[in-house]
Amino acid sequence: MRDLVKNRLQLLSQRVKKRRLRLTRQRTIVLEELAKVDTHPRADQLYRMVRQRLPTISFGTVYRNLKTLCQLELVTELKLGQDSSRFDARTDPHHHVACTHCGCVVDVELPVESGLQKKAARQTGFAVSHYQTAFFGTCPRCRGKS
Ligand code: ZN
Ligand code: MN
Repeated sequence: MRDLVKNRLQLLSQRVKKRRLRLTRQRTIVLEELAKVDTHPRADQLYRMVRQRLPTISFGTVYRNLKTLCQLELVTELKLGQDSSRFDARTDPHHHVACTHCGCVVDVELPVESGLQKKAARQTGFAVSHYQTAFFGTCPRCRGKS
């Protein structure tokens, strides 16, 4: 996790410079807090985490910064058919599994088949930029409860 934080912050300063954006303390902390965890928080959960360090920050500011970080390709937005998007500071291709009971989202370390994207592009004529695979089921904690 530590390495991810360092890597994200380095890339942030590079990409912000390239796009002539400002490297604000708020933007840095939003990214840093997200990169510290592997829980794929919702925006409101990340807001609570960020508020521990920036008590006066608003939800809107956290949300806007998250969106900018997605545009800078430093954060991935995961839409897993749940109420709200989940956010991930990992942007390397990887899979997820989501619990349909508690909503937790966990990384699945399985090889990502790069051929699949090319095949989808060829078949549809799309310029396919990325793809996400999600598995769904019941997590070990929820299984223990039932
Ligand atoms: Zn669960
Ligand atoms: Mn992930």
